[in-house]
Amino acid sequence: MLLPRIDNLLRYSIVSNFWQNFLSRIGVEVESTTETVRRSLKTARIVAFTGAGISAESQVPTFRGKDGLWRNYRPEALATAAAFESDPHLVWEWYDWLRSLIHAAQPNPGHLALTELQQRAAAGFTLVTQNMDGLHEKAGSQDVVKLHGDIWLLRCTKCGREGRNEQVPIEPMPPLCPCGGILRPGIVWFGEMLPVDEWERATDAAQSAEIFMAIGTSAVVYPAAGLVQMAKHARARVLIVNPEPSPADEYADWILRGPAGEILPRLL
Ligand code: NAD
Repeated sequence: MLLPRIDNLLRYSIVSNFWQNFLSRIGVEVESTTETVRRSLKTARIVAFTGAGISAESQVPTFRGKDGLWRNYRPEALATAAAFESDPHLVWEWYDWLRSLIHAAQPNPGHLALTELQQRAAAGFTLVTQNMDGLHEKAGSQDVVKLHGDIWLLRCTKCGREGRNEQVPIEPMPPLCPCGGILRPGIVWFGEMLPVDEWERATDAAQSAEIFMAIGTSAVVYPAAGLVQMAKHARARVLIVNPEPSPADEYADWILRGPAGEILPRLL
C-alpha cells in the first residue's frame, strides 16, 4: 500500500505554514497601505492622473500589453501623423474599431470611485487623463483635463474646422469635411504637441498636489508621464495603482498592485 511518509507530510506542512505566514504578512501590508492612503486622501489636495489601464476593465484595450495589437499593427505605429498621411483609410479603420468598442463601453468601478473621490474631496481634486475615451465624463467626473484629446472630436486636415461626431461605424471612410478635406480624429498623436491650456492646468495641479495618484499608466509617453516626477519634486506623495511595474514606481510612496476597478473603490 502507498502511504505518504511522515517526514514528507511534516515537510509539506512546514512549507505550507511558511507560505501561509508569508502571504498573510503581505496581505496585512497591503491592507495597511490601503488604509493609510484612504485616511490621507480625506484631507489632501489630490491629483488623479489616469492612463489606458483604468479603462481596461471596461473592455477598452490598452496600447501596451497583450491585447494591444490590432491586425498585427502596433498602435504606436498607427497613432502618428505620418501613418495618417501615408494611409488615412487604414488609420481610420483602426479608429473606427476603437470607437465601436468605446461606444459600447461603460465606466467601471475605478472610474466611478474617482467621481466619488472628487465629490468628497475637501481640499481640491483635479483629474488629468491621457485617455481619449470619455469614460471619466460618462462616470460623472467634472472638469477633466484631457491631455490627449477626445476620440469623438474630428478636425479637418484642410480648413481646421472641428466638430463632434459619434457615428459608429463612421461614413464615408475616411470621413470628409464639407470643404473636401479629410477629417482626422481630434486626438494628440505621438510626436504632436499637447494642447497648451490643458498642459498648463495639469502642470499647475501636479505642482500643488499633496497626493498624486498615477493610475493605469505605463508612464512612458512623454511629456504626460513627466507629471509624476514633477509632482514628486514638488513634494507630493505619490501613489501608483497598476498590476504591473512601470518607470513611475521609482517616485512612489505607495504602490498598490492590482486592477484599478478593485483598488480604487477600497480607497473611498
Ligand atoms: P499604456 O497602454 O501604455 O499602458 C497601460 C497601463 O495600464 C500598463 O502599465 C498596464 O500595466 C496598466 N493596466 C492594465 N490593466 C489595468 C487595470 N485593470 N488597472 C490598472 N492598470 C492597468 O497606456 P498609457 O500609459 O495611458 O499610454 C498610452 C497612450 O495610449 C496614451 O497616450 C493614451 O492616450 C492612449 N490610449 C488611450 C486609451 C483610452 O482612451 N482608453 C486606450 C489605449 C491607449
